[in-house]
Amino acid sequence: MPDQTFRDQLGTADKSGRRLWLFPKRPSGRFYQWRTWVSWLQLGLLFGGPYIMIGDHPLLMLNVLERKFVILGQVFWPQDTYLFMVGMLCFFVFIFLFTAVYGRVFCGWACPQTIFLEMLFRKVEYLIDGDGTEQRALAAAPWTPEKAARRVLKHGIFLALAFAIGNTLLAYIIGKDALWAIVTDDPRLHLGGLTAMLLFTGAFYWIFAHFREQVCCFVCPYGRLQSVLLDEHSLTVAYDYKRGESRERFMKGDTLDTRQAREAGNCINCGLCQKVCPTGIDIRNGTQLECINCAACIDACNFMMAKVGLPNNLIRYASQRGIERGEGFRWTPRTLGYTAALVALLAAMGLLLATRSDVAVKVLRTPGQLFQVAGDGQVVNLYDVEVVNKSFHDHEVTFRLESHQGELQIAGQTLTAPAEQVSRTALTVRIPRAQLKPFGNPIVIGIYRDGECIKRITTSFVAPG
Ligand code: SF4
Ligand code: SF4
Repeated sequence: MPDQTFRDQLGTADKSGRRLWLFPKRPSGRFYQWRTWVSWLQLGLLFGGPYIMIGDHPLLMLNVLERKFVILGQVFWPQDTYLFMVGMLCFFVFIFLFTAVYGRVFCGWACPQTIFLEMLFRKVEYLIDGDGTEQRALAAAPWTPEKAARRVLKHGIFLALAFAIGNTLLAYIIGKDALWAIVTDDPRLHLGGLTAMLLFTGAFYWIFAHFREQVCCFVCPYGRLQSVLLDEHSLTVAYDYKRGESRERFMKGDTLDTRQAREAGNCINCGLCQKVCPTGIDIRNGTQLECINCAACIDACNFMMAKVGLPNNLIRYASQRGIERGEGFRWTPRTLGYTAALVALLAAMGLLLATRSDVAVKVLRTPGQLFQVAGDGQVVNLYDVEVVNKSFHDHEVTFRLESHQGELQIAGQTLTAPAEQVSRTALTVRIPRAQLKPFGNPIVIGIYRDGECIKRITTSFVAPG
C-alpha cells in the first residue's frame, strides 16, 4: 500500500498546523526559460499598462472611485453595467472552458501573483541569499553582521518592488496623471492618495515577502475551484505513475533495461521534483489543489532523467486519460457546451458594443408635478432630463416631440453635453388639449446627437380628466 500520509497534512504546515517556511530550489530548464521570457513580456505590460495610451486615453483604467472605466481607450460608465455583466459572464465561461481544457496553465504562466513572486521576489532572494539549501542554512544561522546586512538589502529591495507594484495598481485606478500629481505636489494636498500608496505598498510587501504561496493554497478562489473545474481530460502537470512506479533509487550502471528487468519504474526517488516546488507538494501524489502548474518539477525531473540516462517527460503536461490510456486532447460534451455558451455570449457582447451609444439620455416626469393648463388652452407637463456623455468629446443633444403636434422646450432647444460628464436639465412639453385623451397619454420624444437620431423615448403625458 503506497504511503498515503500526504492526504492528512499540508506541504506548508507542520503537524501542529504551524506554517513551514519553504525554501524551494532554484528552478532551471526549458520550461523555466520559457516562463522567464513570457514573464518579461508580462511584467513590461503590467508595469507599462497605465502609460500605454490609445489616442489621448489609457489602455486600461479602472477608476472605481469615480465609477469610470477605460478599456482599450474606450470609456465605460455605470450606465454600461449591462455590458459589464455580459463581459463578466464571458469571462467566467472562458475561465471554465480554458480550465476544463488547459487546467491551471494560467496560474503558472500568467497569474500576476506567480509572475511577481517567482520572477521578481524569488529571483532577488536567490541572488542575495543563494539557492534553497543556502537559504535554509542562513535562516537557521545565528544573527551576524553579514546576515543582518543581507536581510536589510533583501527586504529593502522587496519594499522597493512592492512600492513599484503598489504605485502601478494606483495608476490603474486613478490614472497616471493623478498619480504623478500625488508624487510631485505638496503632500498635504493628497493625503488620501498617499495613504493608498502606503497601504498598497505594505500589502504587496506582506504578500510577496511573507504570505507568498499561501495565497495560491488558501486564498485564491480560482485555486479552490479546481476540483470542480478539472476533469480527467484536462491538461495538468502530471506524473506518469505507470512509467514511474515502483520508484526505486538509481543504482550504478542502471539502464532502462536493467530497471525493467527488476521491475523498477523510472522514478529514481531523488525528490528533486518536490525540492523545486514553490508550493511544497510532491506531484507524484497526483493532481493537488496547491499545484500552480509552474512546470518547475517537469524541468527538475527531465534534468534528473537526462543525468541517469532514462527517457525524459516522466513528469509532463498531460491529462489523466493521457497518462492512463495514452489519449490526446479530445472534445467532450462539457467543453463543447462551454464553447457554444462562450460563442453565444461573445456574439451578444459584440452586438451590444456595436449598438452602444456614447450618449445616454433619461427623460422622467418631474416628481410631484401633474400638469398645467396654459392660457392658450395647451396642456403643459414637466420632465427631468439626464444626459450622460460617455465619450471624450462634447455633443449637441436635441429633443423633438414626435408623436403630437405640440411644443417641446428646453433651454436653447439644444443641450451641450460636455465630454465625460453628466448634465441635468428640465424639459417642458406643451400639447393642445384637443389632441389629448383624459388622464394618461403616451408621447414619443426623439433624442438627436449632433443631428443624428440616437433614441426614441416613450413616456407618459398627463392631461386633465
Ligand atoms: S507540483 Fe510541479 S507544477 Fe505543481 S506547483 Fe509544484 S513544481 Fe509547480
Ligand atoms: S524528480 Fe523525477 S525521478 Fe526524481 S523523484 Fe521526482 S519524479 Fe522521481
